[in-house]
Amino acid sequence: MELRPRAWSPLMSPTPPESIRHDWTLEEVEALFALPFMDLMFRAQLLHRAHHDPNSVQLATLLSIKTGACPEDCAYCPQSVHYDTGLARSALLEVAAVREAAGRARDAGATRFCMGAAWRSPKDRDLRVVAAMVREVRALGLETCATLGMLTPGQAAELKDAGLDYYNHNLDTSAEFYGEIITTRTYQDRLDTLEAVRAAGIHVCCGGIVGMGETVTDRARLLRTLATLPQHPESVPINRLVKVPGTPLADQPEVDPFDFVRAIAVARVLMPRAHVRLSAGREAMSDELQALCLLAGANSIFYGERLLTTGNPDVERDRQLFARLKVTAEKAPAGGAHTSSGHEASHARAG
Ligand code: SF4
Repeated sequence: MELRPRAWSPLMSPTPPESIRHDWTLEEVEALFALPFMDLMFRAQLLHRAHHDPNSVQLATLLSIKTGACPEDCAYCPQSVHYDTGLARSALLEVAAVREAAGRARDAGATRFCMGAAWRSPKDRDLRVVAAMVREVRALGLETCATLGMLTPGQAAELKDAGLDYYNHNLDTSAEFYGEIITTRTYQDRLDTLEAVRAAGIHVCCGGIVGMGETVTDRARLLRTLATLPQHPESVPINRLVKVPGTPLADQPEVDPFDFVRAIAVARVLMPRAHVRLSAGREAMSDELQALCLLAGANSIFYGERLLTTGNPDVERDRQLFARLKVTAEKAPAGGAHTSSGHEASHARAG
């Protein structure tokens, strides 16, 4: 199902929405980051209200279906085999266990269920198991998404056949900074998988991580890369680095919270129709910072269970925050899951 903008009305914002663009220059994106904070927030709000219900947030639940022992060396990730983080590994879950977790997520109010596996790329026999999981989760009326590493066009087609709605594959950062964070694959590898996912007709979920030591220009480059794709990702997760002891980024300095909010606001301005997801790092945020992120245009969160291997605010805290803000959960798409194809993830599999 295509994400459609809501019809603009003067009650929603004082000016008509800017058109959807795919030709942003780096200078323009850097200029957005350089705006006074209030001006950037106002611009993001105008676009947010033109395309989304400003008081509703999509709830997605993320389950790790295979944990740890990943051969990749993403410097932020506790699941990498290269770092000793004390993480308990687990083999691929049984289909029945995933169905049960998805049922709990649905009963708690989630509309999207994301399945993450710590693989460089899935083996064909594992992909068949994941396809069976997708069918089961979809049968519960949930949107489905998966993050499994790099995919070939044939594997993407197989997941599409199973009914996958979204595939998460994050670019993490700019092409220029990428080599500082990951050496076991290239930026082009990521772009190739995104292309295979798009060509298969699966919605794309793709974003990055703020706070890894990148410059503001790197953030601008990442968001520009996403916003100049022929089709914007339907979901754009913006993660704040979770500094996991044992990973190379464990001692990164804290990112200024306002700089994090700026990244969300710029993502909203560049990709007005996308669901911008406040992803990993939310557990450590105050309620006030989370509210500011929603005001900047975030309209999707991970809810319940845990992020792949890092924590997530518990459901009760989220419910109380939503009640205090009078924010409601976005309803599932009409008729249950999308008829095309569904994911994203915490940055612990920013993958
Ligand atoms: S982010 Fe994903 S690909 Fe990278 S080490 Fe972690 S699980 Fe593996």
